[in-house]
Amino acid sequence: MPPCPCCTAAFPHRAAPAGGRRGFVAALAGLAAGGAAGVSLARPARAASGLPPTTLSPDQALERLMQGNQRFLAKTAQPGPGNVERRAILATGQAPFAAVLGCADSRAAPEVLFQAGLGDIFVARNAGNLADTGAIGSLEYAVANLSVPLIMVLGHEHCGAAGAAVALAQQPLALPAHLRDMLLPMLPAALAALRAGGDAVEGTVRANVTLNVTRLLTESPVLSAAAAAGRLKVVGAYYDLDTQQVTPIA
Ligand SMILES: [Zn+2]
Repeated sequence: MPPCPCCTAAFPHRAAPAGGRRGFVAALAGLAAGGAAGVSLARPARAASGLPPTTLSPDQALERLMQGNQRFLAKTAQPGPGNVERRAILATGQAPFAAVLGCADSRAAPEVLFQAGLGDIFVARNAGNLADTGAIGSLEYAVANLSVPLIMVLGHEHCGAAGAAVALAQQPLALPAHLRDMLLPMLPAALAALRAGGDAVEGTVRANVTLNVTRLLTESPVLSAAAAAGRLKVVGAYYDLDTQQVTPIA
């Protein structure tokens, strides 16, 4: 038999490796077939990854994240790669309890800030924590296929992307095309912050978080349907580099 194009098994085959490409493709096919209506929003008995999905509610998932940040603040522990048994379990699949859309800034790594281990949180990152196509698609997968009950959009103090967006809002800048295109979705937040006065960069960070929470809930039928069903909360938060504390953004 010829090899399967998606794994090392003979082709055709019925059983795909747990958490493998077939599960991902099946989930995407469900999304494509009927949008939000094509996705079962009932919590499955087992995540498509092969591990039972988290049993935490959206509020419980948020509480667990914030407890992790408290441990980080207390400097009582450092995140590790997980013990050997945990790593072996994770080889069969994943069942994260929360997802974070964070900035690519090296100082704002969600796994560290929340003292999370391997397999605990599903993370999408880019400069400016923007709900772009890649981020939205990644988070749709986390919610539809892994039953993640919480998404946190996490901005942070002294964000370079926010600073660049403020500069771009004030004057034309000669920027590389991809960098310019990446910053354009931040301009509404930068303009709002400039109008409001005060620290324009910090204002942009906070407005940008709120804007991207709204984008996730309005531009993704999958996420909005899960939120409407009570299975998902999308929240905004701010990481203070000076205090190392994460606080919600209302
Ligand atoms: Zn940043």
